[in-house]
Amino acid sequence: MNITAKIDKPRLRALLEGINAFGRDPAGGWSRRGYSKADREVRDWFAETMRQSGLSVRRDAVGNLFGRWGPGEGPALLAGSHLDTVPQGGAFDGALGVAIALEAVRAMADAGLSPRIPVEVVATAEEEGRFGGMLGSQAMCGIVGRDWVTAARDADGLALTEALTEAGLDPARLETARRDDVAGFLELHIEQGPVLESAACPIGLVTAVSGCCVLQVTLSGVANHSGTTPMDMRADAFAGLAAAALEIPGLIARMGTGQSRITIGKVDLEPGEVHTIPGRAVFSIVIRDTDEVVMRNLRAGFVATVEAAARDRGLSVDAAERSWIAPVALDPGLRDVLRQTAEAAGLEYCEMPSGAGHDAQTMAAICPSALVFVPSRGGISHSPQEHTDWADIWPGAELVLNALIRLSQAVP
Ligand SMILES: [Zn+2]
Repeated sequence: MNITAKIDKPRLRALLEGINAFGRDPAGGWSRRGYSKADREVRDWFAETMRQSGLSVRRDAVGNLFGRWGPGEGPALLAGSHLDTVPQGGAFDGALGVAIALEAVRAMADAGLSPRIPVEVVATAEEEGRFGGMLGSQAMCGIVGRDWVTAARDADGLALTEALTEAGLDPARLETARRDDVAGFLELHIEQGPVLESAACPIGLVTAVSGCCVLQVTLSGVANHSGTTPMDMRADAFAGLAAAALEIPGLIARMGTGQSRITIGKVDLEPGEVHTIPGRAVFSIVIRDTDEVVMRNLRAGFVATVEAAARDRGLSVDAAERSWIAPVALDPGLRDVLRQTAEAAGLEYCEMPSGAGHDAQTMAAICPSALVFVPSRGGISHSPQEHTDWADIWPGAELVLNALIRLSQAVP
């Protein structure tokens, strides 16, 4: 194991600052939505930065950016994350993982190492969901359907095909982004939750990424006068929703795990008048867990709970599944390498699941995939307040560097 390669701390800070010179939002934070002007500009800048570092740079049909170091032929190790942000997002989500991957390659090159297996720094495209999310990694895995691409629109109604064309990409060539030459994928990302900070642990090795089931539930009763209708003669749709919502903690206690999360995030009451009993309640339910069977049980359990609450109140129920993303277990072998690397370098770590989705879970479909977390202050992300102290970043950066040395079998 070569120990001469070292993260150049000022250079890594400058690189992250360089990325965050793009998309500064006057209203706060950073807005680099996938394929927006700021996103296109940061990608052009990052491509040039990788070129200047001696990497061989390529952009695929969906806008994923690759900087290759090492042999020109053969399967490569991919390391990186995404450069796009949510509107008014933070400085670290995605950008930090991309910057650390490039700094790790620069550090290896500076130390005079050369890899037996090529390393590609990757900045994936449209991860944050302007058009659905994780589009770049899904295209690499060949799981983006042509019909979906043609139909996809952002919240303003702009077609994905139009956004791609404006970014100089050809939607008709999307299939060419598919890769069958990836030896592994390593992503460092901020945790976006409070677990590492509260455990005072600098590194999280992710075991699995939670799945996500989205339901839309409609409770229908009778809208009526709030003054003349006695309490025992109502069919109040909101009362049914409230009763079901209160059952959620008990449902998780009976059927869930420590990783179970159930959230009602959006509610529409109709007619939505101050003096009228709600005749209809339409609400979203998001169910997450790292175990697919548990997710199925929770879905069935919640639907039964809503049905019971509806029956008691003279309401009818319709529960429709909007999407189902299965949980993904990340590669135990690659995690083992990370564990050994951390131990050899004297770096403290914890093993934990991820409640949020990441490119690493998509990439697991085509290669061994690993995800490393660094702490998020207060567990906050997707916000200008998102922050990770540099003192909490160095251990993760060192782990990525040493793991890439090991995995690429870099030699002096
Ligand atoms: Zn992210």
